[in-house]
Amino acid sequence: MFLSLRPLLEGAPLYVLSVLFGLIVGSFANVCIHRLPKNESVVSPASHCPSCGRPIRFWDNIPLISYLVLRGRCRACGVPISPRYPAVEALNGFLYLLAALRFGGTPATFFYFIFITAMVVITFIDYDFQIIPDEITLPGIPIGLLAGWLILPDPFYRLAGLGLTGSLIGAATGFLLYYSIAFLSRGGMGGGDIKMMAMVGAVLGWKGVLLTTFLASLTGSAAGLYLVVFKGKGRKSRVPFGPFLAAGAVVSLLTGQDVIFWYIRHGLH
Ligand SMILES: [Zn+2]
Repeated sequence: MFLSLRPLLEGAPLYVLSVLFGLIVGSFANVCIHRLPKNESVVSPASHCPSCGRPIRFWDNIPLISYLVLRGRCRACGVPISPRYPAVEALNGFLYLLAALRFGGTPATFFYFIFITAMVVITFIDYDFQIIPDEITLPGIPIGLLAGWLILPDPFYRLAGLGLTGSLIGAATGFLLYYSIAFLSRGGMGGGDIKMMAMVGAVLGWKGVLLTTFLASLTGSAAGLYLVVFKGKGRKSRVPFGPFLAAGAVVSLLTGQDVIFWYIRHGLH
């Protein structure tokens, strides 16, 4: 069962709608980033100012636009609003555009939108609190398997479906690889990373797990080195690995085999 090669929407309308949808979901991602770690509901109450607690009215809650109109301040109390809110919205909209450009207007693209936002939310929550929320990764594994079975292509062979087998092997690869790393590093990698990579494997397949790991190791060790050399951080200081895994997973999704061929061509001379 592989339905994803039949586009439902194409061309400029697809790209415009993808960006707009990305901005709106990005706004919801901000809510998740701030409420999931506190175990608050992401549905109610409606958005309110973190400083004065007053509800943010509908027309003050339009992605990007409201931030610019209000010049980054709460309408009620005037306290500055973190530029991270519009940045998360813009990032999410931009990534949706890239996904639409690569995969077209297919059911798979719609699923990848959700996956991308899950990665964005994980990035900021892990950066802030050093946790990867189970609320995302635990439902993400069965949902990823279902999508892999029904609608997802193999991002590394775009004409083939991932299939239930490919999705299961991917989830097992993610789980076993990171379970082993956690075991061998004695807590250097947490349970959150294991569950997250099982989810990533269900969506991207086993090659996606390996490419994500490769990219995250490169960027993660570069960032670690930077912190030790330039910021005077100790070698044992804890750098959350989730953001690097999330970025690696999104790059793997959006580039697939291209990045491997690029590396073989340019990296091995
Ligand atoms: Zn306020």
